[in-house]
Amino acid sequence: MKVLVLNCGSSSVKFELIETSLQAIEQTADRTIARGAIEKIGTNSALINYYPAGAERHRDAREILDHETAVNLVVKLLTDGETPVISSPEEIDAVGHRITHGGERFDHSVLIDEEVARAISDCIDLAPLHNPHNLKGYQIAKKLLPEKPHAAVFDTAFHQSIPPEAHLYAIPYVLYKRHGIRRYGFHGTSHRYMIFRIHKLLGLPRNGTSIVSCHLGSGCSVCAIRDGLSIDTSMGFTPLEGLVMGTRSGDLDPALLFHIMAKEDLGTHEINTMLNKHSGLIGLSGVSNDMREIQEEIDNGNQRAIIARDVFVYRAAKYIASYMAMIGKQVHAIGFTAGIGENSPDIRRRICERLSIFGIELDEKANAECIGTERRISTENSRTAVYAIPTSEELVIARDTVRCVEGVL
Ligand code: ADP
Repeated sequence: MKVLVLNCGSSSVKFELIETSLQAIEQTADRTIARGAIEKIGTNSALINYYPAGAERHRDAREILDHETAVNLVVKLLTDGETPVISSPEEIDAVGHRITHGGERFDHSVLIDEEVARAISDCIDLAPLHNPHNLKGYQIAKKLLPEKPHAAVFDTAFHQSIPPEAHLYAIPYVLYKRHGIRRYGFHGTSHRYMIFRIHKLLGLPRNGTSIVSCHLGSGCSVCAIRDGLSIDTSMGFTPLEGLVMGTRSGDLDPALLFHIMAKEDLGTHEINTMLNKHSGLIGLSGVSNDMREIQEEIDNGNQRAIIARDVFVYRAAKYIASYMAMIGKQVHAIGFTAGIGENSPDIRRRICERLSIFGIELDEKANAECIGTERRISTENSRTAVYAIPTSEELVIARDTVRCVEGVL
């Protein structure tokens, strides 16, 4: 089955065409046919990147003012661009949509019908910056491929297994009942990819295996996984909670907001922007939200860049340690993924050094050599295995789409 995976953001459309089936899933024989992204939609210089498998990458920049034009272009690139990979849109068997928020309604992926589309729309309140664009992507694709099945794969669904003691905030309970205020968690598809790979690498079954999954990219989250289920995660009602991120603060004393608003004469919109856009690595360092640039500045002796890195590392290690304790039994593996987790041996080493109390021992050479590849980076003696695992959220979305279409989900 050829599944088109679509991820529509506020100004981007990312896509991947994946050939997969129940049998291919079983044999890990899924295959990417082409992938790409259209970014800066809404401008006269939108960026188009298209990677047909085994052929040269295409890059282009042109005016693309809306998502409809972008999604149409995706289909055109696949069918009759410079390197077409299928002969007509009819060859696309199903479409898998990344949907940010499924609220408490969705604890797994589903085929989208009118009622599901309405439920996704009802979750706009919970994810006003993401769900409208995800939904728009579905509506455009549905118009283009009306006869094909479309599946919704939610970022939050995996975390619906988190028990109340970990998903409730200690605020008046009526707020949970009235407004759904609770921990939802995000990056669910990325943490699920981690589980899939670690189970394969360790040769262990889902039941009885415990993992701490660390997604360290522009956004960052840690997830505690027992028997294949999420039992806690660091992102909360929104993606702002938890780890230090590129531009987000992560955890802080909530009373700080009122203090800062008073001292700096800020309104709610401004404090929201401050915490989401001007905090984290950029806020602390004053240099960049990009860990590579932070590391360059550290090499130049920039003290604030050092502080930014150290707060980032400390917070990540603190979460991993607390999740190892909450899992409450042997943790078989810690996995690092996303831009920083996959590519920064230095950050992985610093985090793991703080976890030596758990008997974690990195293989310095394996860690240093492992950049952007999948590898075990701990020694044979390490009580918990540590892995770097390049993530593929698209593969998880394509596989879920197949399972939905085949009726096995
Ligand atoms: P997103 O997809 O959420 O935008 P990514 O997963 O691409 O984010 O992660 C972006 C982060 O990864 C940035 O902080 C970037 O600096 C970091 N990163 C990428 N490559 C490296 C590297 N070689 N060393 C350190 N950090 C890196």
